[in-house]
Amino acid sequence: MLKPLVAGNWKMNGLRSSITEVQTLLEAIRRDNLSELTDIMLCPPVTLLRDFSECAADTGLFIGAQDCHKDDFGAHTGDISAAMLQDAGAQAVIVGHSERRTDHGETSTMVREKSIAVLGTGMTAIICIGESEAERKVGMTLDVISEQLENSLPADVESKSTVIAYEPIWAIGTGLTPTASDIEEVHTSIRETLEKLTGSSKASDIRLLYGGSVKPDNAAELMSITNVNGALVGGASLKAKDFLGIVSAYQTT
Ligand code: PEP
Repeated sequence: MLKPLVAGNWKMNGLRSSITEVQTLLEAIRRDNLSELTDIMLCPPVTLLRDFSECAADTGLFIGAQDCHKDDFGAHTGDISAAMLQDAGAQAVIVGHSERRTDHGETSTMVREKSIAVLGTGMTAIICIGESEAERKVGMTLDVISEQLENSLPADVESKSTVIAYEPIWAIGTGLTPTASDIEEVHTSIRETLEKLTGSSKASDIRLLYGGSVKPDNAAELMSITNVNGALVGGASLKAKDFLGIVSAYQTT
């Protein structure tokens, strides 16, 4: 049984005053010993990494970033390297989020290069894949997912530092979710593709997160699906109360 990971992606939200949400989260983690059963992570915008990581030091709350450049350093105005994120306190980096793929034209090849950069620092890479609504409608979901995975995953990964997040694009921020059997079908297919790519012993230890409109009231059902080892949460991670509602659903499974 893999320890679940519940990761919150704050996207382009939050100011330094948002630290109060982290403090509320930390109080609950401490009080209810939440990190014993679940790894809990917040991925704030880069401007808050240092503040959040200092606040979360030695608490069991992990702090991650949302993207990085593939290179270690150089003439890339406005970009930030994996090593810089780690230096600011990140322990993980989300790569290949659909908003990066759509808004910034990131291809799976680029996602793989970023993943290599993240893993090279010793941080965890949370690699996102997911189909569009049009792709699901024409029955291409499993093909799209395996193509993205094959091209986004570096050749030689360790299961401990690699996390795959399945996020159907049409479910992100919409309140829509796939059915439990659709999620199970995709996650089982991801596990099988991982077996081909990494070998079966590594593949069985890689955590597969579901992401897309996870809320306190559907988290328990989503967590109980075969091959779902946690959640990547957007909107509902911004308020400690909602995020805790998701984490605590995972405590009872
Ligand atoms: C996300 O963008 O990673 C996400 C899952 O968003 P939401 O939970 O808001 O659908």
